[in-house]
Amino acid sequence: MNPALENSCIPQHISIRHLGAKECVTGSCHLVQYESAAGQSVNILVDCGLTYGDDPEIPFTEFPVSLNEIDYLFLTHAHIDHIGRVPDLIDAGFSGEIICSHATKALLLPMLHDAMSFSGRSDREIHKLENAIDDLSWGFELRQTFNLKEGVTFWLGNAGHILGSCFILFNFPNNSSNNDFKILFSGDLGCTNTPILPDPDPPPECDLMILESTYGDRTHPDRSKRIEQLKELLKKALTDKGIVYIPAFALGRTQELLYELDRINLRIPVFVDSPLALKITDIYAKLSSFWDEEAKELLLKGDHPFDFKGLYSVKSYRDHKQLLEIKGPAIMIAGSGMCTGGRILDHLEQGLQEPRNDIFFVGYQAEGTLGRKLIEGEIPVRAAIHTLNSYSAHADQQMLIDWVASMPKPPKEIRLVHGEVGARRELAEKLNLVWI
Ligand SMILES: [Zn+2]
Repeated sequence: MNPALENSCIPQHISIRHLGAKECVTGSCHLVQYESAAGQSVNILVDCGLTYGDDPEIPFTEFPVSLNEIDYLFLTHAHIDHIGRVPDLIDAGFSGEIICSHATKALLLPMLHDAMSFSGRSDREIHKLENAIDDLSWGFELRQTFNLKEGVTFWLGNAGHILGSCFILFNFPNNSSNNDFKILFSGDLGCTNTPILPDPDPPPECDLMILESTYGDRTHPDRSKRIEQLKELLKKALTDKGIVYIPAFALGRTQELLYELDRINLRIPVFVDSPLALKITDIYAKLSSFWDEEAKELLLKGDHPFDFKGLYSVKSYRDHKQLLEIKGPAIMIAGSGMCTGGRILDHLEQGLQEPRNDIFFVGYQAEGTLGRKLIEGEIPVRAAIHTLNSYSAHADQQMLIDWVASMPKPPKEIRLVHGEVGARRELAEKLNLVWI
């Protein structure tokens, strides 16, 4: 259950349903329905993501609105657990506008192309869907107000989670009074001091906040020391000339790692064994106007933040197969981030039982995924397993509390989503929310 579901402040002409990531962290999908004074309805979907591991997925047939009646699909960012069902949504009848930031728009098709290539669709079907997604989707500026139907407006703020990630403020006119109703969706909220990305914008005033709570019960280690920690751990792990495997999301985490490995300069070969991660890194490199000041300065000085001596790109499957035979020391970055598929599986199969090898987990591992099972010791392995919590792309408990506290005025209601039960419960306590 979510806190504060009863006694909600939501007026009668608006309804919100959490169709995904309500009580878990993957499969984000929320529906807002608004009815104007003239009796016209506006249906807005916020994210439409895939689920991982044991997280539940609601079939489109059980959505409370038919898909062709959805006017807008907002995408907070381009991670697959927020956008992965978009092709299916279009196949099933959605033809509304897709709204996101400019950088998300640039990342959308490469991410979905990769996801679709594993969906059993033919090249022709994929091509058709890509054209449809391209035609329907629009990139918008951050920190500006734009109009939707029936007087509804939206505003996007920088969420600092990955390039292009945003939180969304909707303003719904009130039928009977001058008091508009404002709903803020946090999307995935990033940490302060994340490499490459500017810190999250402070949240504007709202009536209802839909807040992510992935790490609502955790405190990340001091991020300012994380480069040194990574360096020390890598040095230790590589003294026995083993291989360090880093399962990493192609989007976001891989670029952060490359940025920091460039700073560390260990003079050990680093392989990025993921065509998608390489493609995304190219897009990150082109979108330098969205970087933070530190990354921009490096570029100005002639040090490209994602490129260094000893970095090898592994695109073809043949090269990937050859790479499996390589001897350490080496650092291997491959997807998927939760070890649910992708080239990392071949690497782990090859190297998990070698005691000289190490696996560094640098991202959230959902319940039921291979990554989670390895961390929890459910699968006996001889390689050493490390979890680097300071690499989270999600704000921790204190950052979430500080973000809420930085609002000009507290919201009337906060709903916690995108978190497992323990995380939501603890954050609810800290934020003094009613837990039902
Ligand atoms: Zn995300």
